Amino acid sequence: MAEATPLRPRMLINGELVEASDGKTFTVYNPATRDISAQGKSPTPPESLHTVPEASADDTNAAVAAAKAAFPAWEAMGPAKRAVYLKRLAALLREHKDELARLDAIAMGMPVSTHHFAESCARHFEYFAEAWATVQGQASVNTPGYVTMTLRQPYGVVALIIPWNVPCHFLGTKSAPALITGNTVVLKSSEKAPLAVARIAELVKEAGFPPGVFNILSGHGLPSGQILSRHMDVRALSFTGSSRTGKLIQEEAARTNLKKVILELGGKSPALIFEDADLDKAVAQTQFSIQSNSGQVCMANSRIYVQKSVAAQFVAAFKQQFAANTRPGDPLDRATNHGPQADETQYRTVLAYIEDGKAAGGTLALGGHGQLERTNGFFVEPTVFLDAPETARITKEEVFGPVVVINTFDTEAEAVAKANDTEFGLYAAVYTRDVNRAMRVARALESGYVGINCTSPLTGHDLPFGGYKSSGQGREGLLYSMNNFLETKSVIMQIDEA
Ligand code: NAD
Repeated sequence: MAEATPLRPRMLINGELVEASDGKTFTVYNPATRDISAQGKSPTPPESLHTVPEASADDTNAAVAAAKAAFPAWEAMGPAKRAVYLKRLAALLREHKDELARLDAIAMGMPVSTHHFAESCARHFEYFAEAWATVQGQASVNTPGYVTMTLRQPYGVVALIIPWNVPCHFLGTKSAPALITGNTVVLKSSEKAPLAVARIAELVKEAGFPPGVFNILSGHGLPSGQILSRHMDVRALSFTGSSRTGKLIQEEAARTNLKKVILELGGKSPALIFEDADLDKAVAQTQFSIQSNSGQVCMANSRIYVQKSVAAQFVAAFKQQFAANTRPGDPLDRATNHGPQADETQYRTVLAYIEDGKAAGGTLALGGHGQLERTNGFFVEPTVFLDAPETARITKEEVFGPVVVINTFDTEAEAVAKANDTEFGLYAAVYTRDVNRAMRVARALESGYVGINCTSPLTGHDLPFGGYKSSGQGREGLLYSMNNFLETKSVIMQIDEA
């Protein structure tokens, strides 16, 4: 991989790449080595370059003000002209995809071998650059003496708050549909993974977006995220992150201007394996689901329920494959497919859940250890719990690590009841060769997404994505996301009869 120019992380406010107005910064450490990462591999970067700007209240307000000022001209430009900027950015993202992968690797540990998200970000900008013509209102003459119609129009300033686990992907899925529909954007990256997004801020400037149209902040939830949530000039907010933060954002929106809020939140996704399933396929796919991105995936199948008659066979194969297919190491090494947890907090949280699972009576069948002493990085072994109580935190709460609970069931009704006994509802999978059972179970599962003989992270490109229950509200997707950023206005016009 070509060595990239050292990054100097800055924010993009009103078309300028800037430091925080009060000079505050935070440091990003490489979770695989605990070295300072904000400058990548540069051996002795100047001290001032070790840091990422922490957006202040003034910076956040300035970004919103810039977006508000830029809105009328951006809306008036029309989608075909707006599309030119999106396409330019897509080309730049593709050109710099290796560099973006490397920046995510040193910030949050995603192996470069598994990072296809700059590409997916580029694809979203390209897709939405072409999709604008599908934005249409309706018209009717059903009211005698009148023509009635609906107009679809942008909200104005929209805020986008993204998590750290797949930053490039969420930047694309949210900002491309918001921008093409004529909104102006203030996006805040996660404090755990701000580097690739800071590089994208440079690319946005290079793509020539008019000042204020696309603003990018870095920093923590407080103050910047909270200010966006309660800002009176932000008219819609799309958030991906934890259910806890989603609730806080919803509260702030309700207390202030009732801005539209779209929430893509956490999960505790079940996979149900019936005795007639193709067990080899079920093992391989469920294992990949919980190993991918070191288990830091909202839809990872972190609970597996296996019919008792095939449980021993399934568990033996699952343990063998989970251990054999996990190749931990330097995320910058293309042979690595398993990175560390994103930071020390995530690492300690995962280990605490493992201790809790043991204390609750679960049987540790594989792994269960942190590797900090041995590797100097926040690696966690692939971990399997058997027979953890259904009420244990390890079975009920999102761990966000390479940790799976495998429990058993006797009947279809029991499997569905256990799968649904959760506040989450993001993705569920069912493995069976019985098509009637597959459809019965798919219908009964309380989940925004169901895989039949397949599981996450697989998704259909044109399907909506989003959660039931505390996994969120609203849906995102190629055919759905523009809707999130468009108001509907009804217009009724009287026609004078001749
Ligand atoms: P998080 O909620 O801690 O942080 C997400 C973002 O919110 C960050 O940018 C953070 O700075 C910001 N934030 C924190 N506090 C805030 C506040 N009070 N007001 C406004 N913004 C605030 O989540 P995370 O740890 O970054 O991401 C992991 C979570 O995201 C997991 O729960 C995972 O399941 C979820 N997730 C969901 C999806 C989905 O599509 N449903 C996808 C990926 C991740």
